[in-house]
Amino acid sequence: MNFDYTAPIDLLQNKTLLITGAGDGIGKACAKSFAQHGATVILLSRTQKKLERLYDEIEAEHPGRVIIHPIDFRSATADDYLMLASSLNEQFDQLDGLIHNAALLGARTPIEFYPESDWDDLMQVNVKAAFLLTKTLLPALNQSADARILFTSSSVGRTGRAYWGAYGISKFAVEGLMQTLAEEVENTTSIRVNSLNPGGTRTAMRRDAYPAEDPATQPTAESLMPVYLYLMSPEAQSIHGQALNVREFEGV
Ligand code: NDP
Repeated sequence: MNFDYTAPIDLLQNKTLLITGAGDGIGKACAKSFAQHGATVILLSRTQKKLERLYDEIEAEHPGRVIIHPIDFRSATADDYLMLASSLNEQFDQLDGLIHNAALLGARTPIEFYPESDWDDLMQVNVKAAFLLTKTLLPALNQSADARILFTSSSVGRTGRAYWGAYGISKFAVEGLMQTLAEEVENTTSIRVNSLNPGGTRTAMRRDAYPAEDPATQPTAESLMPVYLYLMSPEAQSIHGQALNVREFEGV
């Protein structure tokens, strides 16, 4: 990654940002980077142990600025989201950012053989969780003077690709959610809504998808952080309703 945006160390001071799928990969890198730049981070993810390790790491360097909330989006109900929103409302006046990053990959197989159970799981985790979380947290985001919602997409969510099944289709749905919401809030709120395709990144998901690939050929999650920080910055306030690619930012 060559995007040479150097975020001021206090870029996210006094901001509260919620990241899903924060226990690993790109979400974990976002959690650490946002905290380093002054934010209070609310971290949602599936595996409690990973979240606890990350909590210890961030808390040691930035005391009082990390909250973890284990949740499995596969089984979470509307009530779970309402309880989360009400607990956040008690602790914070506003939410300044919502980064929808958690996702499942599922089977890569022709539609003819695609397992229905994977279809259901991916629609639940990759799409419905983002919908419910957005819906319940919009009032808190509306309290911020400059809030961001960033959905995470993929190249297979912008052009269909054989054998990627529900993963690609769920990312198309995420793009639809982003566009619909962006138009709804554009003139009536200061919330800016976009989707971002991180591109191939050296994470567990990438290893699952391309087991024969040398991981060293892919950029690390940490190397993408200038783009994520930029999108959270005041400079990016005019970017709205866009389907963005991390790679597009190279050389900007
Ligand atoms: P990882 O698999 O490394 O991390 C995904 C995170 O999401 C993990 O922390 C995982 O939890 C969490 N998660 C998965 N399922 C659930 C669930 N049911 N409930 C709650 N949390 C869950 O993925 P990446 O970091 O690679 O991917 C991040 C995002 O980027 C995804 O949206 C992915 O689709 C997208 N993307 C990634 C690319 C890549 O090359 N890596 C390319 C294009 C898009 P746990 O810690 O328990 O595993």
